[in-house]
Amino acid sequence: MNPLKGMSVNAEVAEILYEISELYALKGEQYRSRAYMMAAQRIGSLTEDIRKIWQRGELQSIPGVGKSIAAVIEEYLETGQSSKLEELREGLPRGVMELIELDGVGPKKAMRLYEELGINSIDELEKAAKAGKIRRLKGFGPKTEENILQSIEEYRRRQERFLLGAILPVIDEIVAYMKGCDAVLRIEPAGSARRRKETVGDLDILVLSTRPEEVVERFVSMPRVSRVISQGTTRSTVIIGANLQVDLRVIPPESYGSALQYFTGSKAHNIKLRTIAVKKGYKLNEYGLFDRETGERIAGETEESVYKALGLEWIEPELREDRGEIEAAMEGRLPRLVKEEEIRGDLHIHTKWSDGTGTIEEMAQKAMSLGLEYIAICDHSKSMGIARGLDEERLRKQMAEIDRLNERLEGFTVLKGIEVDIKADGSLDLPDSVLKDLDFVVASIHSGFKADERQMTERMIRAIHNDYVSAIGHPTGRIILRRRPYALNLDKVFEAAAEQEVLMEINAFPNRLDLNDVNAKAAKEHGIVMSIGTDAHAPNHMEFLNLGVAVARRGWLEPGDVINTLPVDELLRKLER
Ligand SMILES: [Zn+2]
Ligand SMILES: [Zn+2]
Repeated sequence: MNPLKGMSVNAEVAEILYEISELYALKGEQYRSRAYMMAAQRIGSLTEDIRKIWQRGELQSIPGVGKSIAAVIEEYLETGQSSKLEELREGLPRGVMELIELDGVGPKKAMRLYEELGINSIDELEKAAKAGKIRRLKGFGPKTEENILQSIEEYRRRQERFLLGAILPVIDEIVAYMKGCDAVLRIEPAGSARRRKETVGDLDILVLSTRPEEVVERFVSMPRVSRVISQGTTRSTVIIGANLQVDLRVIPPESYGSALQYFTGSKAHNIKLRTIAVKKGYKLNEYGLFDRETGERIAGETEESVYKALGLEWIEPELREDRGEIEAAMEGRLPRLVKEEEIRGDLHIHTKWSDGTGTIEEMAQKAMSLGLEYIAICDHSKSMGIARGLDEERLRKQMAEIDRLNERLEGFTVLKGIEVDIKADGSLDLPDSVLKDLDFVVASIHSGFKADERQMTERMIRAIHNDYVSAIGHPTGRIILRRRPYALNLDKVFEAAAEQEVLMEINAFPNRLDLNDVNAKAAKEHGIVMSIGTDAHAPNHMEFLNLGVAVARRGWLEPGDVINTLPVDELLRKLER
């Protein structure tokens, strides 16, 4: 099940195409399977509502969407169904469809598990794996069995979670709607969404009000509510879309801060805070901070008052994971986290020159409308044939176009860059003779993910040692809820990058967020500076910069740890190492 299902029509359409792709793969029609897969990925990452594109009659302008895929999309948008999907599904065991949801279990393996062991569901597969039956199948072995068990665990975990990038717009929608009720004095998300975790389970919303019933009434009447699970006088739970659970709590003024603190979490952070409270003779809960003996209220109206009474500075929600923030708050050495408005440019942009949908100028215009001062154009290099990657000749032409555009632009700079492929041996896909003429070189791995840790690490370190590489793109290669990171010794990679003064990217695309928060913090501790890039393949994707900033903040990064905070001239000076 696609985690975005029910969240947007785009995600629903993408899900249909993924399923068709998988079914073609089962039938051995690899070419068709790949075509549907590419179209699904593309539609899943569109920021414009696909219905609008359809209404303009421009479905086939989406790269990878030809006539027959467009027909599937059109039928689905008109009827909510796909006859092609129904047709392909017929005669196929349901269990097989379930099995291919598991990471590492492709259609072929799923079919063999079904045919040879009669496995027809994930539960049955788990039982068989635990009984050691999988390893006895030809070509499977103990390692595969172990991986299957791990995949099952991950599968169960991800059933309940949504990407942060899908949740933030929903929060904006809820907040805007609820503010239309004048009983709502303040409204904020709490929980992992407020901490900007990369995935979010249930959504918690807190409202400050003295007229709770009106607030609850407004809440259950939101337009996208598909089901009301409970409706009390100060609390309510609803389902939005297919399966996003949203909990509302209405809080009176004297408790608002302590409730916000309590429901923001994390659990580990809160446990530590309560221990500190107990040591001071207090009791801390969602209603406030109280004297244990007298019951007197010490604090609770604001979060600041709660932290202060415990002898702590106020802690940014993104840091509340019990990763040292409480100790730092005690000693007054919390980091001054980088802010969204301090980001001056986007350092990873694709255009029509490879697999993007915008021209260089369109991307620049969008960046200007977002208040940015520069972007780095980083299209794919030639070995990404499927993405129309650039060879040296086309890259030189693109560079000339950028020069001409820069002459016309005022107060904005388009940097000449590339996302150059790191080949299997660690060499780069384009010669130094052209890389040296670029402003910004992102080097990324896009193939051969299955190599072992030593090979992968050596491959990346060799790229880091190229004199013209500025940054390593999406360093671990993971796709959230879909693909695990490749095997890599990050410690060694970070050591090499620090020594060579190569940046590590925080890729801000919603399902990448790579480096993640924990790795960004580790990179900083190695003395590495990071670059944030949205990996935009369409103008609207540049709006994902805030997700990159969220990762940076969760990784304790300060403005000096993120190169995008520099003005363009300083940035260029820094890059000339
Ligand atoms: Zn890439
Ligand atoms: Zn890219």
